[in-house]
Amino acid sequence: MSNYFQPAIETMPAAQIKALQNEKFRKQMAHVWNDCPDYRRKMEAAGLTLDDIQSLDDIGKLPFTSKDDLREHYPYAMLAKPLADCVRIQSTSGTTGKRVIAYYTQHDIDIWEECCARAIAATGGTKEDVVQVSYGYGLFTGGPGLNGGSHKLGCLTLPMSSGNTDRQLQFMTDLGATIICCTPSYAAYLAESIKERGLRDQIKLKAGIFGAEAWSEEMRRDIEQSLGIKAYDIYGLTEISGPGVSFECEEQTGMHINEDHFYAEIIDPDTGEILPEGAEGELVFTCLDKEAFPVIRYRTKDICVLTRKTCSCGRTFIKMVKPRGRSDDMLIIKGVNVFPSQIEAVLLEQGYQANYQLIVDRVNNSDTLDVNVEMTPEKFTDNLGQVSEMEKKLVAALKAMLGIYAKVHLVAPKSITRSEGKAVRVIDNRKI
Ligand SMILES: [Zn+2]
Repeated sequence: MSNYFQPAIETMPAAQIKALQNEKFRKQMAHVWNDCPDYRRKMEAAGLTLDDIQSLDDIGKLPFTSKDDLREHYPYAMLAKPLADCVRIQSTSGTTGKRVIAYYTQHDIDIWEECCARAIAATGGTKEDVVQVSYGYGLFTGGPGLNGGSHKLGCLTLPMSSGNTDRQLQFMTDLGATIICCTPSYAAYLAESIKERGLRDQIKLKAGIFGAEAWSEEMRRDIEQSLGIKAYDIYGLTEISGPGVSFECEEQTGMHINEDHFYAEIIDPDTGEILPEGAEGELVFTCLDKEAFPVIRYRTKDICVLTRKTCSCGRTFIKMVKPRGRSDDMLIIKGVNVFPSQIEAVLLEQGYQANYQLIVDRVNNSDTLDVNVEMTPEKFTDNLGQVSEMEKKLVAALKAMLGIYAKVHLVAPKSITRSEGKAVRVIDNRKI
């Protein structure tokens, strides 16, 4: 029997969830039509009135919302409540353009935090636990989301934020943190630091919740072994609320979507057509009961699959498999789609750690990919012959995975800068 935060909802029969979704969706569309002029204009431009949308069966008629739509109407895109009713904003990082600002009423904050509480409970978390939140706080949703979820569940919450590894480890050991929440790359860095300082037997961690960047199954196993924990995936995006849109249970075979708040579709990214369950395509979300920022049919650019197979944890929410990668992270090199997570998987499989950097360039009109990889202390050698052999082996393994040639440079341990938030894995020097 799994550990739930809201068992009645989390294990509700699928037919009842569908009825609840339909009821919320009808109300939400009336709210958007009446209170969100940006989206109403889009509906009118598509020749739609509110009467055309009776249930979720009609959702395919509605226009999509893209990140560009939200940026275009900055800073008040999709705002559907007076600012006097809003109590918080969060914002995207803006690394790929103008920031998107998300607005929350108190109700919106409550449902977001409940979703995060469900995620922590799914790792076995209870009020007895000490939750160390090492995601960044501030505009980034990672810290505030898990912080709120930990409060709702009644855990002792350590609002560490990111960075300052010495202080992280001091609180982790002195206060006996049992659950850690951070990016997977920072978890790997913490594991490395714990090993170096010989702190492993002073660590009481049993679970970790890791998200906000793409990570591979190999990296999961690596973190689980090095920290002696079970590592859970969590998914979310600021445009929809933040972390906790979906979360993993003990089965670790995909993330349950909080379907009472978010309706998920998979579409063909080229035609926009809705695809049947089980098909791979782009993930699209509609917020069913958010008040201030009720984004409708938001195109996430994440490529994944939805499945409603019975889960051993007892939850009935549909599951999404780990996205293959955000299309924003995807590189096109020599015409081939390359996800950094694929390269990471090869490195871990070959006994390296996830300390690497990809440099993409264009020389004589042809793309080049250089991969800098740190040697582990165990593999470290200054025998150039051996280094060259190891590099050749990695080149072959990468070629087998990606289908293209990547030049590999093995570098000394610790020579690639560590991230304390989202890792910077890719430097693209191409001027296109
Ligand atoms: Zn489950």
